Amino acid sequence: MKRIAVVMAMSAEASPVLTALSAEAATGVAPLVVRWFTATRHRSEILIALNGRDRRFGVDSIGTEPAALSTYVAIDRFRPDVVISAGTAGGWERAGGVIGDVYVSDGCVVHHDRRIAIEGFREYGIGAYPVLPARQMAATLGLKTGIVTTSNSLDENDDDRLLISASGAAVKDMEAAAVAYVCEQMSVPFMALKAITDLVDHPIATADQFNANLSMASKRLSEKLLEVLDWLIPRERGDMS
Ligand code: SAH
Repeated sequence: MKRIAVVMAMSAEASPVLTALSAEAATGVAPLVVRWFTATRHRSEILIALNGRDRRFGVDSIGTEPAALSTYVAIDRFRPDVVISAGTAGGWERAGGVIGDVYVSDGCVVHHDRRIAIEGFREYGIGAYPVLPARQMAATLGLKTGIVTTSNSLDENDDDRLLISASGAAVKDMEAAAVAYVCEQMSVPFMALKAITDLVDHPIATADQFNANLSMASKRLSEKLLEVLDWLIPRERGDMS
């Protein structure tokens, strides 16, 4: 794979991998929406597309809308062979989650906050977007595998819990399904790589766990992302064996 796009939400999540790749900032690319960084690795072009900072609130643009915009711009202008949604995520003690573990998406990516009880739209709401088959890569690189589920909330409410237990998801984030949606619409292979910062069913508040573990998890993410890039680069588009 000669062109790999990595879509990330928070600059703190991206910082270790930008350093490790000696990535350089690109200018002039939709600056109100994304911040692009590019690097070369084993003669492949790597794009790190950061979702940028909100113009009004000044915080990192987390969540589905910036992720979808960023992915669209990345595919339209960079023409990647594969898109990786990389970042931090929540897990569950009940699903065997451990802080610092890195998961690759398996099976599909779903939404857990789009409940549409109308014929045909129920499935549209959940999404179940395809992901690259990555079990062999996961076994080789020591990654966990699981369904990633997305909503625009850091916490989970009772309705979320019902959809999450129905999907059997192991990883909870705020961007993957949006990135996967754009990838499916534009016929680009997709995978998510997520490092666990917090366990949503743990007694310590999710936001406190997130803040305590963000730096460590981002370093773990960077290490594993480099290994994933090195796995993907020599392979053909669509060949994950
Ligand atoms: N207080 C933080 C907010 C980060 S929100 C700040 O502004 O610094 C959490 C980000 O990490 C999102 O981009 C999301 O994809 C991921 N994430 C980590 N833990 C999560 C969880 N438990 N649920 C959903 N997303 C989570």
